[in-house]
Amino acid sequence: MAYDTNNIFAKILRGEIPCKKAYEDEHALAFHDIAPQAPTHVLVIPKGPYVSADDFTARASDAEIAGFMRAVGTVARDLGLVAKGYRILANAGRDAHQEVPHFHVHIFAGKDLGRMIGPVGS
Ligand code: 5GP
Repeated sequence: MAYDTNNIFAKILRGEIPCKKAYEDEHALAFHDIAPQAPTHVLVIPKGPYVSADDFTARASDAEIAGFMRAVGTVARDLGLVAKGYRILANAGRDAHQEVPHFHVHIFAGKDLGRMIGPVGS
């Protein structure tokens, strides 16, 4: 799948639409989700043009991957999420219902998040 330069997160990266920024460095931008599914729901995105987790892990440089993962941890620490805990999640492709075709990691926190996923068949 080719990268769509007009996807909503590409526009956020270019500053064409606003976001509530939580963190930024050379590799990553983090901002609060527009429709939060937990008291804290932040999205962390790489600055490069990668469609999904599959695309990112296949094509990004080691420096981009390391920098991005470091940023995810930094965001969680900066937001004070470590003591009570948090969940990171990345949807990739159809079955996972990925909506925005720019790779992103969700960070959820601020309540008991329950078990990771329902049982098979539910
Ligand atoms: P996905 O289903 O692709 O893993 O998650 C996409 C996420 O992006 C959703 O949680 C959705 O609420 C969020 N989102 C979609 N459009 C915008 C936007 O314009 N701004 C922000 N901050 N979040 C958005």
